Amino acid sequence: MGRDFSKVKRIVVKIGSSSLTYSDTHKLNIDRIDRFAREISDITNSGVEVILVSSGAIATGMSRLNITTKPENLGKRQALACVGQSNLMEIYNKCFADYGYTAGQLLLTKYVIDNKQTRENAENCINEMLNLNIIPIINENDSISVEEIKLGDNDNLSSIVARLVKADLLILLSDIDGLFTKDPNKYADAQKIEEVENIEDLKIEKSESKSSLGTGGIQTKIKACEDATNAGIDCVIANSSNIHAIKQILSNKNTGTYFKAKRKQKLKEIEQSL
Ligand code: GLU
Repeated sequence: MGRDFSKVKRIVVKIGSSSLTYSDTHKLNIDRIDRFAREISDITNSGVEVILVSSGAIATGMSRLNITTKPENLGKRQALACVGQSNLMEIYNKCFADYGYTAGQLLLTKYVIDNKQTRENAENCINEMLNLNIIPIINENDSISVEEIKLGDNDNLSSIVARLVKADLLILLSDIDGLFTKDPNKYADAQKIEEVENIEDLKIEKSESKSSLGTGGIQTKIKACEDATNAGIDCVIANSSNIHAIKQILSNKNTGTYFKAKRKQKLKEIEQSL
């Protein structure tokens, strides 16, 4: 076992809504977004390709319109995503521009992923963005995704994207330091797990808390890691409040929890896992 990310050339980083906003006010944490853009720009400068899967469309819409509770109503959530997605991209682009980069937005739906042709189009689009030194920022197209056709949560989306672009590593940034033996919010003796070799062997409490903004929890993260590691992609769950988390991970520090990839799959097998 042990981490060795020295040969990593392409990573997918997922950041959740709760990491992009202040929990008390539900307003955007601009400082964190800026530092995050700086870190990603520098990592890109070092020669590692970074694809970002960012939540926050609905949360940014809420922030912009001074709404503090996520609406139950689907239409309202879709309208908030319309406002928030474009606003979020404006902010990302402002931040990335300071470090010499341009971000490009790609909004996916289940239909795009389920269809071979559109899936290939999405893959080509991401590859071309990377060729042009653009930072791809991907989200689900929340404004037109209704429950029946939803990909689900962005943990799942990031795992799909990691397989789509055949990434070497998937990093899920969240508001937790990694995977714990028990719910760390409830149990003082909960311990962070450094490495997971076999996800099937994990016995994690199902009742762990979910954030009020995002849709995922630890279970969706574990599932995302399971799908990615089965396709031969290493994964790490880490805390977004550690602004150097990605760099630390890339230099093999014990940041977050490492999920070891199953044997490296042939490209064809990765495709079949989608
Ligand atoms: N796509 C949603 C948004 O951007 C978030 C979904 C999730 O966090 O899992 O608001």
